[in-house]
Amino acid sequence: MKVCKFGGSSLSCSLQFEKVKNIIQKDNQRNVVIVSAPGKRSSDDNKITDLLYLTYFHIKYKVDFARVFDLVKERYLEIRDNLHLNVDLESEFASLEERMRSNKISEEELVSRGEYFNAKLMAAYLGYAFVDAKDVIFFNFDGRVNVEKTESSIKAIYALNNKIVIPGFYGCYPDGSISLFSRGGSDVTASYFAKALDVTMYENWTDVSGFFKADPKIVKNAQPIKEVSYDELRELSYMGASVLHEETIIPLLGSDIPLMVLNTNHPEESGTMISSECQDKDTLITGITGKKGFISLTFVKSRTSDKLKVMLQVLKVFDHLQISVEHIPSSIDSFSVIIEKDKMEHKYFDLIAEIKKIDDVLSVKEYDDIALIAVVGRNMVTKPGISGKILSVFGQEKVNIKLIDQSREEINIIVGIGNDDFERSINMLYQQFC
Ligand code: ASP
Repeated sequence: MKVCKFGGSSLSCSLQFEKVKNIIQKDNQRNVVIVSAPGKRSSDDNKITDLLYLTYFHIKYKVDFARVFDLVKERYLEIRDNLHLNVDLESEFASLEERMRSNKISEEELVSRGEYFNAKLMAAYLGYAFVDAKDVIFFNFDGRVNVEKTESSIKAIYALNNKIVIPGFYGCYPDGSISLFSRGGSDVTASYFAKALDVTMYENWTDVSGFFKADPKIVKNAQPIKEVSYDELRELSYMGASVLHEETIIPLLGSDIPLMVLNTNHPEESGTMISSECQDKDTLITGITGKKGFISLTFVKSRTSDKLKVMLQVLKVFDHLQISVEHIPSSIDSFSVIIEKDKMEHKYFDLIAEIKKIDDVLSVKEYDDIALIAVVGRNMVTKPGISGKILSVFGQEKVNIKLIDQSREEINIIVGIGNDDFERSINMLYQQFC
């Protein structure tokens, strides 16, 4: 049996619903369907989830919400009527609006209605049973999922009905009120279903044919990745490749459930297979990704002081100010901390003030203008000389390297360069290795 999750762009209008039904009907294993809220129909359209957040802010600041909420209602009514479905949305909308007018609805509950109404329509359209996510996805008050309760509820619901549609993105707190995953969280809902039901495949249907070996906006004609391991995916996603919610694979770790990323608009394309164990043992570089906008702070310590103690004191300041640290290259009397510039925001002055209190730090130098490139490949570990080859490409192209880091598992090599060299470097690595 397969769990299939369809994203917002796959469900933005009745035409997209028809494509989804075709996909479901082509394979009788596609029994469990998780849906997002309708996404954009064109680049200047709105996502229903964004409109619902906006509606909530109207309620909160006591501004008439009717105009914006009408846009939400119209979208569902249009889908329903175009598909000739017999679903009474009007009375659901009326009771929701009643609660909105008397301010008796939480932001989370209102926003969750995006997936709720879409799942109602999809269940009717497919002839599957509707299962409310609040009855199967359970959160603790700290925002983490209660995995045991969630998994046993999913199993129990599936035992009653084995063709079901579930709204993604939300669940409930122990007191029964609605709680949300972070944005894009329907991917994670589907992972909990895949894990609990030990499915043969989790299919994630979206508007791209999987992950690309490099960002197609940077490398023209970049090819899709056929196979990627869970670990590689984490590296690729962390450094910028965003197709799935970054927590998608967490519930699947320790299982051998494969996840396919597929394109609803081109179901014939092979997509990307993500799994714990990949078959292909030859491809050296799986993907090249990266981000611009990092800074490096270099701390010079007194020669007599203990490096470890000084590092600890400095890192405590980062921890205290909640600034996440990406890399810590070091030499004997100095070490650098690489951080994302945007994440520092207004904390910079507090950071420097705190650091000045540490006696053993003699000076702090700041280097702006760093972009990080991650060359990711699970098979690099088996072939000596790969990092040498990668670095020599930068030399040939006269790109100055500012930092180099390689993880112990040798799954990725990180190279820091100037922001202006970013696109050129990704292109030249792609031409050489992909
Ligand atoms: N609709 C939500 C969002 O736009 C959740 C999801 O699509 O997974 O973030």
